[in-house]
Amino acid sequence: MFLFYGKRNARIKQYKTEEQSCKHCGHFNITVKVYQEYFHLFYLPIAPVGTKEAVMTCNNCGQPVRLNRLSNKYEEKTRSPFYYYTIPLLIAALIITLITSAYISNSNQTKYINAPQTNDVYVMYQQEDSMDMYYFVRIVKINEDTLFALNNQLFYSRYVYKMDPVDYFTENDTTLLFKHELPQMYEDKTIQRVFRNYDDEDGFTRIN
Ligand SMILES: [Zn+2]
Repeated sequence: MFLFYGKRNARIKQYKTEEQSCKHCGHFNITVKVYQEYFHLFYLPIAPVGTKEAVMTCNNCGQPVRLNRLSNKYEEKTRSPFYYYTIPLLIAALIITLITSAYISNSNQTKYINAPQTNDVYVMYQQEDSMDMYYFVRIVKINEDTLFALNNQLFYSRYVYKMDPVDYFTENDTTLLFKHELPQMYEDKTIQRVFRNYDDEDGFTRIN
């Protein structure tokens, strides 16, 4: 991939000051522009680089002004702007978003386990002859502590989050689950995941 990166210089702050006079015309009216370079990737700043540089001009006669004490003062008081860290900030925002959504998704799972509803679909796990087997159940009726669930047709050898196109739930194959056992089943991974508010394309709406 073609990477476009490098250093750029930009003005980060501008001031007007009347604290010193221009040695050309004697007026007290100076513009101070502070510049600093930054590293960029495709023009997006990564971090500031190098020292700041104040460039001063007289607003009356337009001549450049060189007063080290004054330029040092403005170089020191000017901070690198936060947007000079755009890429690290974007990366941090992305990480925070991922962590937050993973956290919300997990807390939803606990909520679903503790308050089952009809039409919830569980991904179930069991081991048989040291083979990993995954399958689905769909809750069709809840009667006090008892959940009536339909089983799907196929077993899967790895964790799946949707059903194979030929797979479906069948009313000829049902399972009973108990509400009070669900938290433990979720804890020991017999129930891997709960799906609620799913789409047709997940296959969970196919019942024969
Ligand atoms: Zn001047």
